[in-house]
Amino acid sequence: MTRPDLIVFSDLDGTLLDHDTYSFDAAKPMLIRLKHLGFPVVLASSKTAPEMVPIRQAMALGPVPMICENGAGLVDADVQTVRTGPEYVRLRSGLDAIDARLRAMFEGFGDMGAERIADVTGLTRQQADLAGQRSFSEPGLWHGSADQQDRFVDALRGQGIAARMGGRFLTLSFGATKADRMHNIAADYQNPPSVALGDAPNDLEMLNTADYGIIIANPHRPPLPEQPGEAQGRICRTTQAGPAGWTEGLTALLSKLNIED
Ligand SMILES: [Mg+2]
Repeated sequence: MTRPDLIVFSDLDGTLLDHDTYSFDAAKPMLIRLKHLGFPVVLASSKTAPEMVPIRQAMALGPVPMICENGAGLVDADVQTVRTGPEYVRLRSGLDAIDARLRAMFEGFGDMGAERIADVTGLTRQQADLAGQRSFSEPGLWHGSADQQDRFVDALRGQGIAARMGGRFLTLSFGATKADRMHNIAADYQNPPSVALGDAPNDLEMLNTADYGIIIANPHRPPLPEQPGEAQGRICRTTQAGPAGWTEGLTALLSKLNIED
């Protein structure tokens, strides 16, 4: 692949997609500009591949890879349809191999079905169906005590499975992070300068891994803690939220880098 002058890694919800409406209208002119410049836009989300493929298509991003399930998986540039992967099957068998009493306290998406996923996430039934089509990681609810959760996490570690708490869900995977995946993808593009955009704590790793980080304002949650890169001028914050902030941040960066159309 030819080396672009910049590669963009972006979170979706609250960043490139509006927090309430899921619209990316305010980012459209910038998406077109980036495409014209030949800068790939790599989506990085906690969403599953079946949730992300139609978004990549709607944004007309072209054949670019994506980071799905919070870094647990990669979606290839040319993938149009996705099926449950062997990694997810291995994850579920690892889960079933531990002490049955501890296992029973974890209610994974794979144990739930779309109706229950919709209930616990607030997604619509149709969205919940796509969120349940997993390839790399298993989010779930923990119904036991904190002590029991520690024992559960230890037992999973014995199966090579990592567990991370994020929001209400305990998510199990074989351990890859968004930052690992950024390195994989950047290498495919011959390591160009990179920028990451995100609005939430689970984006910090990505924001700190890229050469430039843009923290998108999110009036729905407390502001992210001050990052070391901010004093160095490597990380900045937008005043606007969602896709308007996305455009604001990238406009400022392109001008700082003297990139002309
Ligand atoms: Mg977000």
